[in-house]
Amino acid sequence: MSGPDPVAVHRHAVGADPGLERCPIMGTYGPPSVTFVRGEGSWLVDREGRRYLDLLSGLAVTSLGHAHPEVAEAISEQSRTLLHVSNLFATEHAPVVAGQLDELLGGGGQVFFCNSGAEAVECALKLARRWGPAAAGRFAVVSALGSFHGRTLAALAATGQPAKHEPFQPLPEGFRHVSFDDVAALDAAVTTDVAAVLLEAVQGEGGVQPASVEYLRAAREICTERGVLLMIDEVQTGLGRCGDWFAHQAAGIRPDVVSMAKALGNGVPIGACWATAEAAASFRPGDHATTYGGQPLATAAARRVLEVMRREDVPALARRAGARFASGLEGEPGVVGVRGRGLLLAVELEVPAGEVAADLLASGVVVNAVTPTAIRLAPSLLVTDDEVDLGVSALLASIARVAERTGESN
Ligand SMILES: *Cc1c(COP(=O)(O)O)cnc(C)c1O
Repeated sequence: MSGPDPVAVHRHAVGADPGLERCPIMGTYGPPSVTFVRGEGSWLVDREGRRYLDLLSGLAVTSLGHAHPEVAEAISEQSRTLLHVSNLFATEHAPVVAGQLDELLGGGGQVFFCNSGAEAVECALKLARRWGPAAAGRFAVVSALGSFHGRTLAALAATGQPAKHEPFQPLPEGFRHVSFDDVAALDAAVTTDVAAVLLEAVQGEGGVQPASVEYLRAAREICTERGVLLMIDEVQTGLGRCGDWFAHQAAGIRPDVVSMAKALGNGVPIGACWATAEAAASFRPGDHATTYGGQPLATAAARRVLEVMRREDVPALARRAGARFASGLEGEPGVVGVRGRGLLLAVELEVPAGEVAADLLASGVVVNAVTPTAIRLAPSLLVTDDEVDLGVSALLASIARVAERTGESN
């Protein structure tokens, strides 16, 4: 055999965890330092039995916490009943989940189920292409700089991060980016060849940057005026995370298309693209499909997730716990400020966020450095007051340790 041994190449990339020494996983992520084996509520357990307070939720996925008993029961029951049939046939849960999502989005729409956020965005982008040609040769999609819409080629093209585009040229055509939260820039970009505008109500990966209410309202007006679809990517912000069922609802607007995923299955992969009946009618049978989308296991999980979310009123819980985090952190030493909505927060720091995240992990708290200077918090929406307070004190202690270390090295 010629060429480098792929396992050996990866071993180098993985680094120190001895359990992963011969791990044949592609090196698309940084070296993993912890292997988690179990979770319960806001807590994770690694293979040495150490407990960690999870303030990240698998990136806003496990919004009801780990191993939620009711969700676990729904998954387990469904696994003994029916796991999968082709989308050529109907199954029990998908229409119910679609109906619930439609209700949370104000009604009058339809849903396409898929397996991830990128696929939900991909569905929206294909819908825009189908909508476009019908309306006089429109095909372009305008999105914002700093946005994140996923990693498939089209979702990547829509993502407003030029550095992520560079290695994958040529990307699909027809994507334009404008500065975020800038009404004049959007107004100028929505020309006669534009089919859709795609925005996040709060840019998640872009550093937890909320759009202003005025911006979202202006985007709605511009799109309505010019017959362009307004598509809101709620993959990270949706399903209660930001203190409303969907983050755009804080602006009182009604989009034409909404993508969602992360929290919908509480860890079981499922995505959904909702569109108004008028927009959805752009798709004809055969235009779009996926083998697993809307299958019984994923929709059984989503059905129970939505049931628990509605019963617990998770948007209200997110608002309350988010305010508790913010009041515990704002004005404290080393904290520049707290931004975001509900339980999608960024804590802007005076010290390097990567060092704080590593220090917190070592002391048993999981967060993520969303920018070089900001820590992202996206805990379970069922997080308790005690867990919030523990997270706040751990974060402040970690900031102090890193500040001391950084000060010493200066
Ligand atoms: C995470 C994310 C995606 C991509 O979701 P995947 O499930 O990773 O494909 C798309 N859009 C937004 C806003 C996201 O946060």
